[in-house]
Amino acid sequence: MREVKQATDRQRRSLPANARNWRKSLRSYSSRLHWHCHFIQKLEDEPRMESENLNPLYDGLRPREPHADLRSTWSRGETGYPFFDACMRSFSATGWLNFRMRAMVTATASYHLWLDWWARGLHLTRMFSDYEPGIHCSQVQMQSGTTGINTVRTYNPVKQGCDQDPHEQFIRKWVPELAAISDPYIHEPWTAPNAGQIIGFAYPARVFDHMAAVKAARERVWRVRRGDEFRDGSKKIMSKHTSRKSGKRTLKRTGSTEDLAQLSLPRGDAE
Ligand SMILES: Cc1cc2nc3c(=O)[nH]c(=O)nc-3n(C[C@H](O)[C@H](O)[C@H](O)COP(=O)(O)OP(=O)(O)OC[C@H]3O[C@@H](n4cnc5c(N)ncnc54)[C@H](O)[C@@H]3O)c2cc1C
Repeated sequence: MREVKQATDRQRRSLPANARNWRKSLRSYSSRLHWHCHFIQKLEDEPRMESENLNPLYDGLRPREPHADLRSTWSRGETGYPFFDACMRSFSATGWLNFRMRAMVTATASYHLWLDWWARGLHLTRMFSDYEPGIHCSQVQMQSGTTGINTVRTYNPVKQGCDQDPHEQFIRKWVPELAAISDPYIHEPWTAPNAGQIIGFAYPARVFDHMAAVKAARERVWRVRRGDEFRDGSKKIMSKHTSRKSGKRTLKRTGSTEDLAQLSLPRGDAE
């Protein structure tokens, strides 16, 4: 790791003045190497993070033994949301997903399907080709909201599909059951004129309604987050684990505010 870091820095310093983008990419890569070690250290400091909620006030919020049918629907990529299902199926076949899609599959299991991260997370740990417990435990807890210091970040699987797979190639590859659905409907096949012949037959009906599921999850989570006990617990976690300045910033794109203290974390864009 040190050799890689030093070689990256050397390369960055040797770039010509006009190589701004290349320099920025290397800086970004370097910061990920920093995160890598930072998270490994975090688990070393607090090993209970591997099996317990970082903030114990979340204990019991979701059933520790997840609903078996929902869990297999999630892990097999049969939720009825084409982009989400494509991600899970691709992940099962290759053992890899990029950061944002890992965040989406984790957050969706926690918020939309209300599955506890621990038992469900074992599926990811067994499958990831780059499994690293330190990074993984922290990330799974952050994306599931059980650190108590991260904002509740949910992902809309339809919007993510439109953003990340605008030409539908990824969905077409991994969800062949939708071959008869034409392009304009592929992200929301239940709206297609021929949906009646496919949805619920060749391809499953949606197992959750995005808006309703997110609303219900937020209400349940915020019931825990209100109150002094939660605030005190969060302060302790923040002082032990975060390295960013706390405070608020306004997100340009959405105009909403979010906490800056993030377990020192990269931010996936929500929704
Ligand atoms: C739920 C969830 C689980 C994850 N589990 C793992 C895991 O088990 N192992 C793992 O290595 N990464 C994990 N990550 C972090 C990240 O998604 C992967 O490291 C990243 O997808 C690798 O992309 P890359 O190979 O293009 O590396 P680059 O983006 O080029 O980064 C280079 C290296 O930096 C490290 N890195 C990159 N992003 C992060 C990050 N966000 N946090 C910490 N280190 C990072 C990795 O070691 C990576 O190989 C997880 C993220 C989430 C949201």
